[in-house]
Amino acid sequence: MHSPTLTILAALLTALVTAVLYAVWHFNKNIPGLRLWMLSFLCSSIFTLSLLVRSWLPEVVGVAISQGFVALGAYLCLLAGRTYMGRRPFSHLYAVVGIGALVALSVVFTVVYPHLGMRFVLAGLGAGVCYLLTARTLAAGGMHRVPARYLLAGVLGLHGLFLLLRPALFTLGSAGPGVLPGAGPMALVSQFVVLEAIVAVVLLGFGALILANEFITSELRHLAEVDPLTSVFNRRAFFTLLDKAVSGAQRTHTPVPVLVLDLDHFKTINDTWGHRAGDDVLRHFVALALRCLRKEDVMGRLGGEEFAIFLPNAGAEGARAVAERLRLLVESHPATAGVQSIPLTVSIGIALCGPGDSAGAALQRADEAMYLAKQRGRNRVEMSGPAAAAAAPAVVATAA
Ligand code: GH3
Ligand code: MG
Ligand code: MG
Repeated sequence: MHSPTLTILAALLTALVTAVLYAVWHFNKNIPGLRLWMLSFLCSSIFTLSLLVRSWLPEVVGVAISQGFVALGAYLCLLAGRTYMGRRPFSHLYAVVGIGALVALSVVFTVVYPHLGMRFVLAGLGAGVCYLLTARTLAAGGMHRVPARYLLAGVLGLHGLFLLLRPALFTLGSAGPGVLPGAGPMALVSQFVVLEAIVAVVLLGFGALILANEFITSELRHLAEVDPLTSVFNRRAFFTLLDKAVSGAQRTHTPVPVLVLDLDHFKTINDTWGHRAGDDVLRHFVALALRCLRKEDVMGRLGGEEFAIFLPNAGAEGARAVAERLRLLVESHPATAGVQSIPLTVSIGIALCGPGDSAGAALQRADEAMYLAKQRGRNRVEMSGPAAAAAAPAVVATAA
């Protein structure tokens, strides 16, 4: 296979990947960095096209276009990676100066001191550094959570290294025997370089699509699991997490405390201050509750003004203490509606989900304990039967 065929293949593939990324971006404009990925591939497309029409262009024009678009493409790739990872944008001044300097030097090594080797070093330098920096940017974060991102970082890193070391390959090639055009080590090296570029284009294109997929999946998961008003888990996600925690705890024979919390007289709050103020009160309550919880504790909204919490590493006593702290905090921190304050209290029921128990049954018992708290005057903490016995001292807290 000859290099021109490979170059045509590279141009076709790069244009195809650009088109696919454009289509994905067109329908998902909220994916961070995707537009920049697409523009980066567009630059690579222009570069490969410029290689194909090179013989019809004045040499210096061809060199300037190639150098400029290779460096710009790699820089856009770096920007895409940073945008995807939510990193701060930085001044483009360095890039403008850097790319300008690379193009100017390449022109010098074409017109003033013609030197193919130096132009090759320059072509790999800017792009290689940008790809390595992109790899480093994407590799930040937990590997177990986002393995695909590490795979892409690996490909980017290898491609960046290859670009930086490429001139050495040509030096080795030119030192070898047989310098007939189309055969011998030099021809092999140049074919290998185009092949590497083809493989890189395909892998990086897939990588960009994998990132887009990762973003869409995590957004959908967020929408499916999180209550939009309060940003805690919704009922379904809470049940799933509780189920998982309960099966884990059954293996270690440690009961999981479950709390059901219901705001008192919330209808009156809505009727007095309006539905929007009611929504603010719900958010205010969640913010207060989260202040009482540890990292491993899980809170969900069961519906309306009813919430649930489970505390994986607390016993009955610990759960009562958390519930009591939360009740007091809510009572002492009224919500605000403009300059007015909205007094707020919460009734809490606790149940322990022990061995042989189910998450649903424990939640049901916590709900019954919560209703008992309502019956006994609200703004109280009650524990369901066995849990109440387990928590010592079983003092029922009552406010005012
Ligand atoms: P109790 O002390 O017995 O719990 O009385 P309550 O008024 O809190 O209970 P009730 O079930 O009578 O009223 C709950 C109210 O919560 C009625 C409903 O309009 C309101 N509500 C449910 N979801 C939302 C919401 O998302 N936002 C707002 N603002 N109100 C909601
Ligand atoms: Mg209520
Ligand atoms: Mg209710």
